[in-house]
Amino acid sequence: MSNLAIDYDDVVAAHRRLEGIAHRTPVLRSTTADDLTGAALHFKAEHLQRIGAFKFRGGYNAISQFDAVQKAAGVIAFSSGNHAQAIALSARLHGIRAVIVMPEDAPAIKIAATRGYGAEVMLYNRYTQDREALGREIAEAEGLTLIPPFNHPHVMAGQGTAAKELFDDVGELDTLLVPLGGGGLLSGCATVARARYSHCRVIGVEPEAGNDAQRSLARGEIVSIATPRTIADGAQTQALGSLTFPVLRECVDDIVTVSDAELVHAMSFMAGRMKQLVEPTGCLAAAAALSGRVAIEGQRVGIILSGGNVDLNRFAELIQGAKE
Ligand SMILES: *Cc1c(COP(=O)(O)O)cnc(C)c1O
Repeated sequence: MSNLAIDYDDVVAAHRRLEGIAHRTPVLRSTTADDLTGAALHFKAEHLQRIGAFKFRGGYNAISQFDAVQKAAGVIAFSSGNHAQAIALSARLHGIRAVIVMPEDAPAIKIAATRGYGAEVMLYNRYTQDREALGREIAEAEGLTLIPPFNHPHVMAGQGTAAKELFDDVGELDTLLVPLGGGGLLSGCATVARARYSHCRVIGVEPEAGNDAQRSLARGEIVSIATPRTIADGAQTQALGSLTFPVLRECVDDIVTVSDAELVHAMSFMAGRMKQLVEPTGCLAAAAALSGRVAIEGQRVGIILSGGNVDLNRFAELIQGAKE
């Protein structure tokens, strides 16, 4: 018996709950990308998911399992953006109240979108205030159920449905590259890979400025760091979760990092060559493949493009002068 927070059956159950509600996002191919890397790259396009990121999968899977009392009171989440939109939309689809605690420097597009889904937004300073303490306080006072962005079995299982669909569509892969913040997406995807294709190498990709996960796996315990400064705002986490870390330790083969410059290059490639608008964090896995940080020549490779929510002015600023 495994004592991990989720298993493959949990992902299959989540996939059933999401059927007809989440988009079945396409798998994109690019001859140019294949030629550049000498590999067969399969891009799972979660930037085309509802709310523009995979996080809808986990958020919806979590809220759909609320009991009547939880539904009557509502949900609260703290998030740097995409989880906020995921909870806001999932709450609206279930007809329940949502309170979202967001950093005041989150991209304007994400704050506006969260309000647009009908959620109540509370802003805080991410460098001076402890969002978890703040979130717990409000949750307790108002009887709301707190859904964390990654350290929750229903969230982890929901995120894994992205990899399930990818394998369902393209079959066996030699390597699966997954963006990594707190490890919700990677734990879900790795659980699927291990259950379906035990030889598939599963690699998490985190920003160079915040390689806490790489250090955590190397040391065998969760390493915490200060909020990293990187353009990958969806992966500015300080530590893996108590539930995600054990899954990663068991199911993930390696963690690699990419620099902000490599992310910008990948964003530029995605837009210029593949006509896809992918946010910096969404490019983590693609950047690892395109920059040669992982040996993939001759392989069939899965790449999760995890999100596309980037302010257009910010996008233009970032790719100014980037070499394609
Ligand atoms: C949240 C997020 C990630 C990181 O996911 P974790 O589950 O925290 O590891 C990656 N990409 C995007 C676009 C995200 O919103």
